[in-house]
Amino acid sequence: MQPIGRRSLIVGAAATVASLRLQAAGLALPAAARTAALDGDPFTLGCATGDPTSTGFIAWTRLAPDPTNGGGMAPDPVAVTWEVASDAGFASVVRSGSATAVADLAHTVHVDVDGLEPDSQWWVRFSADGFDSPVARGRTLPASGTAPLRFGFVSCQHYASGYYTALRGLAAEEVDLWLHLGDYIYENAATGPVRSQGTAEIITLDDYRNRYGVYKTDPDLQAAHHAAPMVAVWDDHEVDNNYAGDVGQDGQTTEQIRARRSAGYRAWFEHIPIRLDIPAGPGGRPAPEGTGVRGNEVRIYRRFSWGNLATFHMLDGRQYRDPAPCDGAITDCPDRVGSGRTMLGANQTAWLGDGLETSGSAWDVVGQQTVFAPMPFGPFFNLDQWDGYPESRQEVWEMLRRRPNPVICTGDIHAAGVAHLHHDLEDVTSPRIGTELVGTSVASTFPADLVDAAEGLVRPLPWVEYVNARKRGYTVVDLSADKLVATYKVVSDATIPDGTISVAHVTEVEARTPGAPPPPPPPPPPAATPATPVTGGARYTG
Ligand code: CA
Ligand code: FE
Repeated sequence: MQPIGRRSLIVGAAATVASLRLQAAGLALPAAARTAALDGDPFTLGCATGDPTSTGFIAWTRLAPDPTNGGGMAPDPVAVTWEVASDAGFASVVRSGSATAVADLAHTVHVDVDGLEPDSQWWVRFSADGFDSPVARGRTLPASGTAPLRFGFVSCQHYASGYYTALRGLAAEEVDLWLHLGDYIYENAATGPVRSQGTAEIITLDDYRNRYGVYKTDPDLQAAHHAAPMVAVWDDHEVDNNYAGDVGQDGQTTEQIRARRSAGYRAWFEHIPIRLDIPAGPGGRPAPEGTGVRGNEVRIYRRFSWGNLATFHMLDGRQYRDPAPCDGAITDCPDRVGSGRTMLGANQTAWLGDGLETSGSAWDVVGQQTVFAPMPFGPFFNLDQWDGYPESRQEVWEMLRRRPNPVICTGDIHAAGVAHLHHDLEDVTSPRIGTELVGTSVASTFPADLVDAAEGLVRPLPWVEYVNARKRGYTVVDLSADKLVATYKVVSDATIPDGTISVAHVTEVEARTPGAPPPPPPPPPPAATPATPVTGGARYTG
C-alpha cells in the first residue's frame, strides 16, 4: 500500500488517480468531509509557486485558519480546487483540478502543474469551501535558447530581528524567479528586538509547523511568493544552528538530532513549493545498517535550466557534511587542512560533476549556503564555511572551473560580498574564472561588535570586490548570453516597518567564451584599513 500522503495523492492534475489511491489507502473522502465548513478563511498563508520547469511548476497553499497555533483545521481531509490561468483576471483558465489537503501534511497542498506552454507567465489560485486564496504568479522556463533572465536571491529571514522590507522590494522587481538560499525560518526562541517568533526553541514537528505559520503570515514574504516562483534550498536553521549531518550542537544525542532533523525537514517540505517525495517525518526510516547512509535523508539538491542560458545547480551543504573542524568555531584550527572533510558528500559531489560536464549552458549558477571563497580573518577562519572544508572546496572548484562561466550564489553569513574566483583561488595573477555573489540577509543581523573587524579584514583580500556587513537586503541578477549584472539592494533600516530600499553595489561580469584568452587581472585592491583584531573561538550563528 502506498504510504499515506505520497505526493501523487495531491497532484491535482491527476485528481482521479489521486482519489483512487486515497481509496486504495482506505482514505476515501466521505462526502461530508469534502464540504465540511471551514472555521474562517483558511488561506492565511497565501499561495506560492516553485520549482518551475519548461512545462509547469509546483503550486502551493496551506489551509490554516489559525496558522500559529496548530493550524485550526479539523482532522478531516478537505477538497481544494485549483486553477491556472494565462491572465491575472482568470478569464482564460488553462488548467484546473482538485487536490486533497490532509492533516498528516498539515493541510498543505502541492500541485504539480504540467502541460503548459514554455517560457510563459501564469496565474494560480486555490479555493475551498467558498474561500479563495490570493493569486500567485507562476512561470514556465524557456526550453532552449538564450533569452535573458532576471532572478533574485535571498537568505536568512530571522523574523524577530527585522521586518521583511527586502522581500517587499524583491516582490516589486519583476524577477522571473527567485532563489531562497536557506534560513527561511530560525529555530530559536526570540521575542525581539522587533517582534516575537515564539518563546521556546522548536523541537517537534508541531513546533516547526507553528514557526512556519508565524513566518509565513508576514505580508511581505507572501508578496514575494505571489510575485514569482521560488526555488529554495535549506541551510542550518531550518533544523538547528550549525548542525552537520546528524551531529547537532548543545549536546543533543544522535537520536535526538535525527528526530529533530526529520521534523524540520518534514515541516520544510510542507511549507515550501518544492517537487519532492514526502519526507518520512519523525519516526521515519532509520539509517540502513552497514551502508554508512545517515537516517531520514531527504534529497533536495537538484537542477533547473533557463533554456541554454543558465543551468542552476542547487546544493545542500548541511545534510551530508562532516562535522566542521574545531566545532565550527572562528579560530586558527590546526585540524582545518588535511582531514579531507566533505561538505557535500560523495553522491552530491558526483552529481554536481556530472551536471557540470553535461550542462552546455552559457552560465552555470550554483545556489548554495556558506561562503565559498577563502575568507581568512587574519589567522582565523569561520570553519562552518567552505574554509573548514578546503579539500572538498578544491574538488568542487576543479569541476566548476572547467566551465566557461561559473557563478556561485551564497547565503548564510548575513553580509553581502562579491569575490572573484581565480583559477587558483588565492592567486589573483591566475586567470579569473568565475564569481561568487554573497547575498546579505533579509532580516537576520550580523553581530554588531564584529562588523568593523570583519569588513576591515575581508575588504583588503585581493580577490574581494565588495563587502557590506551593515545592511539587510536582496540581490537581483540580470543575466544574458554575454553579461551578468548583479545589483545589491539594501534596506535603510530593517528594524522599522517603513525602511527604504537603495542600490548599494553593482557588479558586472562579461561572459567568457570557452577557449578565449583570460580577462585582464582585476584592479588593485583598495588600501588596507588597519585590521581590528578578532578574538578566536567565537561561534558565529549565521
Ligand atoms: Ca545559516
Ligand atoms: Fe542565517
